[in-house]
Amino acid sequence: MDTKELVQWIRTLYLHNNIKAFYMNIIWRVPRSEVLKDQHNECQMCKSRGLVEPATMVHHIKYLKYHPELAIEKDNLMALCSECHWLVHHHIVVKKQLNEERW
Ligand SMILES: [Zn+2]
Ligand SMILES: [Zn+2]
Repeated sequence: MDTKELVQWIRTLYLHNNIKAFYMNIIWRVPRSEVLKDQHNECQMCKSRGLVEPATMVHHIKYLKYHPELAIEKDNLMALCSECHWLVHHHIVVKKQLNEERW
């Protein structure tokens, strides 16, 4: 499947409310597991705050829905824990939290 076909397939899946078919497909599973491996199964957002949290998912930095052409581009993928993933999708920016408990 080339990029053009991939984009068309993803658009069709969104139209039919069936994007989970993409997430189940080998086309996604392979780059997903490679990204997890490359990023040491660590949540990259927690890591940027000096924390170590196992990643449970791979996020599309530019959203799949709007950038299906980047669906399997590793530069567009980021390993995250479920909490950070939720925050990202709700546009909540987490500031540095270390040493914040000062009185
Ligand atoms: Zn995290
Ligand atoms: Zn995501």
